[in-house]
Amino acid sequence: MSKETSSTSIDTALQQSQEAFLVYRRVSGAKKADFLEAIAVEIEALGIRLLQQAMEETNLPEARLAGERARTCNQLRQFSTLVKEGSWVDARIDTAIPDRAPLPRPDLRKMMVPLGPVVVFGASNFPFAYSTAGVDTASALAAGCTVVLKAHPAHPKTSEMVADAISKAIAKTGMHVHTFQHVQDSSFESGKALVQHPLTKAVGFTGSFSGGMALYHYAVQRPDPIPVFSEMGSINPVFILPGALKVRREKVADMYAASITQSVGQFCTNPGLMMGLQSPALDQFTQQLGDKMKNIAPGTMLHPGIASNFKKNREKALAQKGVSLVAESIEKPKENQGTSTLSTVNASDFLNDPVLVEEVFGPYSLLVKASTIEELTAAVNKLPGQLTATIIGEEDELIHYAEFIQLVMEKAGRVIINGVPTGVEVCPSMHHGGPFPSTTDSRFTSVGTDAIKRFVRPVSFQNFPEALLPAELKQSNPLGIWRLVNSELKK
Ligand code: NAP
Repeated sequence: MSKETSSTSIDTALQQSQEAFLVYRRVSGAKKADFLEAIAVEIEALGIRLLQQAMEETNLPEARLAGERARTCNQLRQFSTLVKEGSWVDARIDTAIPDRAPLPRPDLRKMMVPLGPVVVFGASNFPFAYSTAGVDTASALAAGCTVVLKAHPAHPKTSEMVADAISKAIAKTGMHVHTFQHVQDSSFESGKALVQHPLTKAVGFTGSFSGGMALYHYAVQRPDPIPVFSEMGSINPVFILPGALKVRREKVADMYAASITQSVGQFCTNPGLMMGLQSPALDQFTQQLGDKMKNIAPGTMLHPGIASNFKKNREKALAQKGVSLVAESIEKPKENQGTSTLSTVNASDFLNDPVLVEEVFGPYSLLVKASTIEELTAAVNKLPGQLTATIIGEEDELIHYAEFIQLVMEKAGRVIINGVPTGVEVCPSMHHGGPFPSTTDSRFTSVGTDAIKRFVRPVSFQNFPEALLPAELKQSNPLGIWRLVNSELKK
């Protein structure tokens, strides 16, 4: 673990991580499960001190941070349960058929194995759940990879405390001391060196489009390109159908005023874009939503850089042709605060302006008014890839708009009916990852137990003697896990 980093110490960190990997990759699922559980216990043992430190560094309120810490420990425990049970390795066994004509079939067995040392970049907006012991770290450790974590410079002390908790868990469960390493160095050079180190085998990142793409480019410029799983946010479009507007616009306005402004809008799932068909009901909804947002006070953002980006991007969006301000917080924002903002534009202007599909990270949403379903469809076609998309509609009209919903599905990794995109459930069926540019690889999630799949690769074992096979592939099935044996799923 190091406080200040240089290229030499990055090299040392990766050398040590590789050394630890050669040990850790062979640790049993049961022992990895104990280790992940121990990390959760050590984080909980930090108690209120950890929350106070995070409050000081992030400006997030205690209740939000307490919830996020609980989610982080829950994530660690979900991975613990997953690796203890063991079937996640997706074991397949096709036993030999020596007398098959015209050629005999060899004995073939396949399972997932860990990639190697993974570099994880802590995120500013989730100091626990996507940072030091967050989902990238938890899923990489669950897979059997070692982790080198680059702390986010906006919450270095919080990160240090969580890293210490991981070190304690390492000591208590007898893991190799370098299974996890913590790097504190706020410079792009160190990020580049970490991604391009020959021993790094994969990267996990949550943050800006420019940051995520920079890491991706460093990785593909290597002589041996490696996967970079960058989650770069999105504007999470919400489509409000006419029937719902007629019968429950007040309720929808309530829901969305809260969703747009929650945690000062600093969520990658924040609904930054809303769309509907022009009508008096849509006008009334716009007014109601604006009135509610006016009364939501500005909040202090995560760090001055994010606050100044918000100000700059909000002004840029409001200055676009045809965009008008509907409402902003009545209370004036103080230094580093984000003001709740709703703006509107006609679909014809929206369709001609690429700036309007750029993320304004913070409590901002643009409401697009389309005059026809064709215009609404054209707006969907224009959208870049998204983490989420939401449809608000009455049951019968959802059926009527089935084709439209199919079109929306092409654009997003999660499609929500009659809800809000913020509030990401951590469970096996969650997919948090959409088509580019919301992520660099839409096939993988960074929330839920499937996140483990980012850090493994399949290996086939051909004609291996039973003694040399990993426990997951042995004929005797000592772990008692589910496997696909000669095309039949069995234990
Ligand atoms: P960021 O600028 O993307 O930085 C995140 C991490 O990536 C930091 O550790 C940073 O390094 C590193 N990094 C960024 N660009 C790099 C480069 N070119 N080369 C090497 N490393 C690089 O994110 P942020 O500081 O959290 O916030 C900035 C903006 O990102 C926000 O205003 C917002 O627009 C967006 N954001 C999006 C999400 C999301 O949900 N997708 C979350 C948070 C922020 P250093 O430590 O050296 O600075």
